[in-house]
Amino acid sequence: MSRFLRQSLTALDAYTPGEQPQDMAYIKLNTNESPYPPAPAVLQVLNREQGELLRLYPDPTGKALKESLAGLYGLAPENVFLGNGSDEILNFAFLAFGQRGAVFPQISYGFYQVYGQLYNMDVRKIPLKEDFSLNCRDYCGQNRLVVIANPNAPTGMAVSAEEIRQIPETNRDSVVLIDEAYVDFGGESCLPLIREFDNLLVVRTFSKSRCLAGGRLGYAFGNPELIRDLEKIQYSTNPYNINRLTLALGQATVEAEDYYRALCARIMESRRWTKEQLEALGFAVLPSQANFLFAKHPGIDGLELYRQLKQRGILVRHFTSPEICQYNRITIGTRSQMEVFVNTVKQILSGGAYENL
Ligand SMILES: *Cc1c(COP(=O)(O)O)cnc(C)c1O
Repeated sequence: MSRFLRQSLTALDAYTPGEQPQDMAYIKLNTNESPYPPAPAVLQVLNREQGELLRLYPDPTGKALKESLAGLYGLAPENVFLGNGSDEILNFAFLAFGQRGAVFPQISYGFYQVYGQLYNMDVRKIPLKEDFSLNCRDYCGQNRLVVIANPNAPTGMAVSAEEIRQIPETNRDSVVLIDEAYVDFGGESCLPLIREFDNLLVVRTFSKSRCLAGGRLGYAFGNPELIRDLEKIQYSTNPYNINRLTLALGQATVEAEDYYRALCARIMESRRWTKEQLEALGFAVLPSQANFLFAKHPGIDGLELYRQLKQRGILVRHFTSPEICQYNRITIGTRSQMEVFVNTVKQILSGGAYENL
């Protein structure tokens, strides 16, 4: 740290992304990327013509992509904001709407805490229930920015849109942000509530179900005034926040909706299979509506399992906070990757110290 750093930032604990190792080819089940490539029509965007156009700035309004997204989800382009990954949208939302502080679940996406700290916000963290489920009533009448990942991460557990409804209903004077990064894997979207509540912001990403984590593209749906507030921050920081290639890739992605629906169905089927296998091996596995499983085994420490898997070329995500350190979060890969994963877990469990379990 230099002596020049703004004082308020010296104690900031930055977000720690999952490992992105560049040294060897792991089976990568640690950051919830898609194991499948983008649709063929999306790959065709990466041609010489698009390359030559890179000399020009992109459209800062993202008009064409907003129209496509609005069309796909039955809303208006004025309801859409585009971000450089949904992380950027979360950042802007905390900055824009966090004046009275923020509240989110104790166990959730780790970045919420970072943004709260970054903007010196009064942050309230509400514990999940014993079984890791989320009680929406806890978030009623909070009168501050409410942030809920639904399905939640890293648990994968979801609540219904009907349960969520009471949150915007009882927080009329603050924004309720629903982070739907994983909604395409079996959750229920709150998009239909957008028309009803002018304080609801639904945030989504192309990173998980749309095979575009490397493209950095997220979007939010909300009341046009909320969208204009986010745009005010966009135009005050980086008007060209989405690069030209990513805008084009995003549009082709929206047009290939059927391809991605089929992939989500495949991932959900592999999730069902993997959960069944893990349970047969004695794991406790939370009910997941996301493209990952959160699982622990009574016979092996979470960190130890993570280490042993890594030694054998498989990366999963381990978190060190005490409530969840027995668990690992396992991204659902292809069926054959999951077969290798399950077989490797069997080997680890049957080796050495775990023989009698
Ligand atoms: C992955 C993830 C994001 C961020 O995704 P981007 O790649 O920045 O679009 C946001 N929220 C949750 C809960 C996530 O898991």
